[in-house]
Amino acid sequence: MKILVINCGSSSLKYQLIEMDTESVLAKGLCERIGIDGSVLTHTKTGCDKVVIEEPMPSHKEAVQLVFDALLDSNHGVISSMDEVYAIGHRTVHGGNVFTDSVIVGEKEKEMLKEVSDLAPLHNPANLLGIEACEKVAPGKKNVAVWDTAFGMGMDPKSYLYAIPYELYLKYGIRKYGFHGTSHKYVSGEIIKLANLPEKEVKVIVCHLGNGASVSCSIGGKCVDTSMGLTPLDGLIMGTRSGTIDPGAVQYMCQKLNIGIDECVDILNKESGILGLSGGVSSDFRDVGEAAKDGNEYAKVALEAYRYRVAGYIGQYVAYMNGVDAIAFTAGVGENDIEARAGICSYLTYLGVEIDDNANNVRGEVAQISTDNSKVKVYVYPTNEELAIARETLRLVK
Ligand code: ADP
Repeated sequence: MKILVINCGSSSLKYQLIEMDTESVLAKGLCERIGIDGSVLTHTKTGCDKVVIEEPMPSHKEAVQLVFDALLDSNHGVISSMDEVYAIGHRTVHGGNVFTDSVIVGEKEKEMLKEVSDLAPLHNPANLLGIEACEKVAPGKKNVAVWDTAFGMGMDPKSYLYAIPYELYLKYGIRKYGFHGTSHKYVSGEIIKLANLPEKEVKVIVCHLGNGASVSCSIGGKCVDTSMGLTPLDGLIMGTRSGTIDPGAVQYMCQKLNIGIDECVDILNKESGILGLSGGVSSDFRDVGEAAKDGNEYAKVALEAYRYRVAGYIGQYVAYMNGVDAIAFTAGVGENDIEARAGICSYLTYLGVEIDDNANNVRGEVAQISTDNSKVKVYVYPTNEELAIARETLRLVK
C-alpha cells in the first residue's frame, strides 16, 4: 500500500512516495520555482540517480501533474497506475483552535483551513493549494491534512493559555499552539517504544534542533508543553529567530530604530538567533562552530547561549512533568552536532544525566548516548516527518 506525502510551500512542493508495508521510500523529489520562470522538478527513484525535469509550472496543479508523471514514467517511475497510490498525506502547518487531529479533507475542512489561515498566512494558503491541486489531478483520492500544531493541542489550559485578557483567547484563539508537532509526536512515540516502561507513563523530552527549533515534553505521548507559541518565533534561540524575548524589548527596539512592529518582528525572525548573536557570522551552526574554534568570541557566546537556553527548557519541563525518563535529540543540529549535545547535557548532571562520549560520537542515526548508569536515558533519534505523515494518513483512510 503506497502513500504519497506532499509538503507544499508557496513556490515549492516536496514529495515522497512511501511503501507502507515496509515503510520504505520508493521515490522522492522537489518542485521549485512554481509560478515563476525556470520551474524545475528534481526526482529521485530510490537507488537511482536523480532526474532533473525542466517544465513550466504556472501553478501547483501542473507541479502535482508532473510529480504523477514522474512517478508513472517507464524509466524513473515506480508505479504503473495512479490507482497504486492509496491516499495523499499533506503537511499542513496551522490547524488553529479547530483541528486537534489529522483529518480527511473535504469541502468543510477546506473552508475551516481558510478560516485559520490568519494564524499562518505564509504557510496555510500554500498547503491548501497543494490539496486542491491533488483534487484536480487525482480526483477521488483521499487527501489527509496532518497538522504541525496537532501535537500541541494535547496541552492543558495551564500550559497553552497566555496571561492576557481571556476574551482575546476566546475571540481570536490567541494561545500557545506549538509547531514541529509531527516530529515531536513521531520521535516521542519511537522513544516510548525504546524506553521499555509502562507506555502511558513514559516522560519524554524531545529537542527538535534544526534551523527552526523547539522542545516538547510529553507523558505517554500526550503533550504537556512545547516551546513554540502562537507562532514559531517563541522559545529557543534558532538559526535566525530570537526565540523568547521580553515584549517590552520589542517596543523599545521599535522606538530606537524608528520602525514599525512588522519590521521589528522581521528582524526577530530573520536577523536574530545565532546569526544575530554571532555578529552576523552565519545562521548555520557548522559555520558558527568553525568561527568559535577560530577564536571568534561572539560565535562562542552564541553557541553557549543556545545550549544554555535548551538546557533551561529541559529543566523547566522536568519540573512540569515532575521527572523525566528520556531525552531525545533530533533534526539537523540534534542529530549531527556532537558538541551541542554534549554542551547541553553538561548542564543536566543534577538530573543524573551521564553522557558516554564514545556513544555520543554519532551523526544521523538512532543511538543511546547516555551511559548505562545514567538516571535519564538520552538518545539521538533522527526525525522522519514524511513517514509520520504517511502513518497518520494511513491511520485515517484505512
Ligand atoms: P530545518 O528543517 O529547520 O531547515 P534542519 O533540521 O535541516 O533544519 O537543520 C538544519 C541545521 O542543521 C543547519 O542550520 C545546520 O547548522 C545544522 N547542521 C547540519 N549538520 C550539522 C553538523 N554536522 N554539525 C552542526 N550542525 C549541523
